[in-house]
Amino acid sequence: MTSTTVMETLAIKTENKFRTLVTKRAYKKGEVICPIPSENILDKPNRFTVQIARDKHTHVGKLAALNHSCDPNVILDTESMVMIACKDIEKGEELFFFYPSTEWEMNAPFICLCGSSNCIHVVAGARFLPLSTLEHHYLNPHIREEMIDLLNATKKNLTKLTAE
Ligand SMILES: [Zn+2]
Repeated sequence: MTSTTVMETLAIKTENKFRTLVTKRAYKKGEVICPIPSENILDKPNRFTVQIARDKHTHVGKLAALNHSCDPNVILDTESMVMIACKDIEKGEELFFFYPSTEWEMNAPFICLCGSSNCIHVVAGARFLPLSTLEHHYLNPHIREEMIDLLNATKKNLTKLTAE
């Protein structure tokens, strides 16, 4: 089963050069939609990649048309390498995921206009979001690890300060 075959259930729509990823069928919450492509792994992010580990960014092909939302309907699970519906999704709906759930530090931050009540406004990666925001979202293991290291580094700095 190639990812190309599975992704026949997804379509890219282009309007004024703005790409959206739309589903051609309905999905139930929790259902796997497709695998995340992993044939082309890079060590730096770009606009066609999704971060799957601290130093790994996979070129996601058609999934690069997935837009961000602060109230997403899909999750990219980088442990199982699949895209999963996190809500019931209707046929013809646009698919969105929460970029900071995979991206620690994005190379091209942008302003979010998703309009949801919990909109984070500046989408730049999980590194730039407070824990009180992140705790409401699905976060992949490498993001949780980065967050723990960031907190540990803060503790080290304070230890150094009091030791002087
Ligand atoms: Zn938003």
